[in-house]
Amino acid sequence: MNDALATAVAVERAPRARVEQLQLERVRRVIALISERVPLYRERLGRAGVRAEDVRSLADLRGLPFTTKADFRDTYPFGMLAAPLEDVVRIHASSGTTGKPTVVAYTRRDLDVWTEVMARTLLAGGVGRADVVHNAYGYGLFTGGLGFHYGAERLGAAVVPISGGLTERQITALRDFGATVLCCTPSYSLHLAEEAGLTSKDLKLRVGFFGAEPWTEGMRQAIESRLHLMALNIYGLSEVIGPGVSVECPERRGMHVAEDHFLPEIVDPVTLQPTPPGLTGELVLTTLTKEALPLLRYRTRDLTALDPGPCACGRTFVRIGRIVGRSDDMLIIRGVNVYPSQIEHALTQIPDLEPHYLLVLRRERALDTIEVRVECRAETAAAGEAALGALATRAQRRILEVVGLTAEVAVVPPKTIERSVGKAKRILDLRAEGEGARNS
Ligand code: AMP
Ligand code: ZN
Repeated sequence: MNDALATAVAVERAPRARVEQLQLERVRRVIALISERVPLYRERLGRAGVRAEDVRSLADLRGLPFTTKADFRDTYPFGMLAAPLEDVVRIHASSGTTGKPTVVAYTRRDLDVWTEVMARTLLAGGVGRADVVHNAYGYGLFTGGLGFHYGAERLGAAVVPISGGLTERQITALRDFGATVLCCTPSYSLHLAEEAGLTSKDLKLRVGFFGAEPWTEGMRQAIESRLHLMALNIYGLSEVIGPGVSVECPERRGMHVAEDHFLPEIVDPVTLQPTPPGLTGELVLTTLTKEALPLLRYRTRDLTALDPGPCACGRTFVRIGRIVGRSDDMLIIRGVNVYPSQIEHALTQIPDLEPHYLLVLRRERALDTIEVRVECRAETAAAGEAALGALATRAQRRILEVVGLTAEVAVVPPKTIERSVGKAKRILDLRAEGEGARNS
């Protein structure tokens, strides 16, 4: 590891007072920068009468305006940029389910920061020069592929830039190149395990970095037992930088946020007031070092909790828990608030079921219904109709216990639910357009 990276890694263990001092200095710089360079912020901060020098403590941040996805839409494509296009060296975009994509940009220095936080992400799983990193995150406008690519190269590991898809070729590469590190979405890792079959024991995988979509502890157990590796959760979003915002350490009790570059807050998604530590709310992030696209209090819509307590690994950076849902992904089924992850949690508690499922939403006579289609193991499928029916009843009961909702459950044979090479598609919304329907 060279000096610059060693220094960046040391800051992860700096005393809290030092971390918070650094954050305060950087927040002030960000406010000065965006007030000067971004018309949207100049107007918004001007109206609120906020100047950089008024922010005397991190608590003062609470009074500052938020940024939302709508701000990107309103200023599409480049209105949020704080740097001239001449200084931009990379553009990525995240495709939403509706409307225009969210466009994000990086200066040369932004790419350096991104590479650094990604190197640190991989270091949390002990990745180094001797590793072969199989990177099956998508390359292209999506940030996952290139984010991991640069981080792994920075550490001197050998990167296999395979991107998503062509699963058979992935299995051959995993085996023949002796990959020790796997980077992809959790759902795709299970698909790889399934295709690799029993031979997955022959793979040399040691650690995997899984994120970009919600997953549960049940999924983690399935991935670890099938691929024989340590599965770490990683979280990030393109608006803020891409992957690299936070990663689990081997303690696996929440993801440390790279707090020298991103400042996290948790707010109540309705009142927008801070929630007490440990309680779940919406994650809000302020970028501290970005040049092309600095963001003040960006509402991620992702629901999680902050854990400021000390971690056995020695890092002092706060941790966020698993993303339990998105404030805009909450389904309201006959008055019950449901997150897809709760259903996944219930399903993964039943050993005869596979963690491959699809939630089908319908509207019948103004009432929303939910059908849970879930795959069973091959042995169960062979046991016949009655066994499948009994399993469906068990799953229905478990969902009722966990979620408080009666769902229709259809247990289907293995490999009948469509696989995705990137983010899994878990919801099929068949409620009529114009009645609040949405495909995601
Ligand atoms: P994108 O900007 O397209 O990369 O999507 C970012 C979004 O993916 C986040 O706002 C989250 O909703 C989701 N996401 C990323 N990582 C995770 C994770 N580890 N767990 C759950 N959701 C995640
Ligand atoms: Zn830790």
